[in-house]
Amino acid sequence: MADKFDLIVIGAGPGGYVAAIRAAQLGLKTACVEKWIDKEGKTVHGGTCLNVGCIPSKALLEASHKFVEAQHDFDDMGIQAGDVTMDVKKMMARKDKIVKNLTGGIAGLFKANGVTALEGAGKVLSSKQVEVSKDGEKTVYEADNIVIASGSVPVDIPPTPLTEGLIVDSTGALEFEETPKRLGVIGAGVIGLELGSVWNRLGSEVTVLEAMDSFLPMVDQAVSKETQKLLKKQGLDIKLGARVTGSEIKGDEVVVKYADSEGDKEITFDKLIVCVGRRPYTQGLLDDDAGVKLDERGFIFVDDHCRTSVPGVFAIGDVVRGPMLAHKASEEGIMVADIVAGHKAEMNYDAIPSVIYTFPEVAWVGMNEQEAKAAGIEVKCGTFPFAASGRAMANNATEGMAKVITDAETDRVLGMHIVGQHAGEMIAQGVIAMEFGSSAEDLALTCYAHPTMSEAVHEAALAVDGHAIHMANRKKRK
Ligand code: FAD
Ligand code: AMP
Repeated sequence: MADKFDLIVIGAGPGGYVAAIRAAQLGLKTACVEKWIDKEGKTVHGGTCLNVGCIPSKALLEASHKFVEAQHDFDDMGIQAGDVTMDVKKMMARKDKIVKNLTGGIAGLFKANGVTALEGAGKVLSSKQVEVSKDGEKTVYEADNIVIASGSVPVDIPPTPLTEGLIVDSTGALEFEETPKRLGVIGAGVIGLELGSVWNRLGSEVTVLEAMDSFLPMVDQAVSKETQKLLKKQGLDIKLGARVTGSEIKGDEVVVKYADSEGDKEITFDKLIVCVGRRPYTQGLLDDDAGVKLDERGFIFVDDHCRTSVPGVFAIGDVVRGPMLAHKASEEGIMVADIVAGHKAEMNYDAIPSVIYTFPEVAWVGMNEQEAKAAGIEVKCGTFPFAASGRAMANNATEGMAKVITDAETDRVLGMHIVGQHAGEMIAQGVIAMEFGSSAEDLALTCYAHPTMSEAVHEAALAVDGHAIHMANRKKRK
C-alpha cells in the first residue's frame, strides 16, 4: 500500500483540478489522478475544457471573428486592410500554444499548492481505496475521501460513425488543416453552433441539421428567434426538424441522409461534424465492489451536495447531473472541497450562467419567460434592443437585445437572457442579481457606466415597469 491521503481526486479537468487545489489550500493532504496523455506520451492536465473544449474553441472563434471583421467591418470605420487572408495552420498553431500554456500551468498550480499529481488511470475500489495504473503497473492509495471528476465524452450516433478526416466529433473539428468547402454539422446545440460559426466565417458553406423543431429551446423565445435570424444572415443554413438517419462515404465526400416533414432527403458534404451532445465518462472507473451507483442515464448518482451512494465518495462536473459546463464543474469542486474540510457549503443551481460564443454571443441565466409562465408564475419582462445603445453603435454591434424576466408580484429577477456583443460578460450581472435576490428595481436604481453595452441591462430592468429611457415607444410614467 502506497501513501494515504485526506482526499484523492480522479480527473484533472476544471472540476477535479479546482477541487484538488481548494482542498490543499484548506489544509487537506490531496492527490489528483489524471490519465490524459498528449502525442508525446506526457500526462496533461485540464481535461476536456482546456485541451479540446472551452479554450481551443474560443481561440478559433476569436480568430475567425477578427477575420470577418477585417473583411467586412473595417472599411466602414475608414480602415483599409487590403486583401485579408486566413492562414488556417497559423490559426491552429496559436490555438495549440494557448492550450499548452494553460494545461502546463496546472502542474505549476499543483506544485505551488502542495497537490500531489498522480499519473495514470484511477479506479475506485471498495473501502475508499484508489488504484492508479500506468504502463501496466498498479499502485493502490488509501483516502479518507474521494472526488470523482472523470468528465464526459462526445456522443456518437449509429447513422454517422466517425470516419478519419471525413466524419469527426468536436475534437476533430478543432483540428481541420484547411477550410472545408461544404461542411455539415449535426446538432444545433451550443457546440454545433460555435464550431459551425468558426468554419462558416472562414468560408465553408455550413448546413446544420437539427432533429428538433425548435431552436435553442432553453433560451427565451424572443432571444432565440433573434439569434436564429442573425446566424441565418451570416450564412448558417440551420435546418430544423431534420433528423439524420444515415450516411455514406463516397470517395472523399460524405452523403448524409435525413428526414424532415417533407420526407427523406440527402445532402453531400466534404466534412461532417457530429455534435449531438456528450455523455458521462465512467469507463474503467469503478470496481465492481466500489458501491458507487449510476442513474438510468449513466451519470454518477449524487445528492445536492455531490455525495454519491458511498459515504466519503463525491462526484462532480460533467459525470453528474446538471449542465455540462466548466464553471459548474469548478463550483461543485469548491463546494465539495469545503465540505470535506468540515465547512458548510451549498451550490445555487438556479444561478448557473450559460453562454454560446457565436457573434453576437448568446447568454442566459435563470428562467425564460415561457418557463416562468409554464411554472404558473405571473411575470413582468423588460427588453432593450442594442440598436438603441450608443456604445453598440460605436462598436458596430447593434444586433440583439437584453431581456430581464421578473416575478410580477415581488419584482424579483427570475432570469436574464441576452443576445449581443459581450453577452457572456454582461450575464454576470444577472447571475449576481439572482444570487443576491435582487429585484428589477435594484438593477434600475444602480448607476451604470456610460457608454457601455451593459447599459442595455439597466434599460431592460427599467423597461420592466415601462420606464426605459432610450426607447421611443416606452409606456407613460404613472
Ligand atoms: P473534463 O473536463 O472532461 O475532465 C475530466 C478529466 O478526467 C479528463 O482530463 C480525463 O482524462 C480524466 N479522467 C477520466 N477518467 C479518469 C480516470 N479513470 N483516471 C484518471 N483520470 C481520468 N463549457 C463551458 O463552461 N464553456 C465553454 O465555452 C465550453 N465550450 C466547450 C466546447 C467544446 C468543443 C466542448 C467539447 C466542451 C465545452 N464545454 C464548455 C464543456 C466543458 O468542457 C465541460 O463541461 C468541462 O470540461 C467539464 O469538466 P469536468 O472536470 O467535469 O470534466
Ligand atoms: P447539445 O445536447 O446541446 O449538445 O445538442 C445536441 C443536439 O443534437 C440536440 O439539439 C439534438 O436534438 C441534436 N440531435 C441529436 N441526434 C440528432 C440526429 N440524429 N439528427 C439531427 N440532430 C440530432
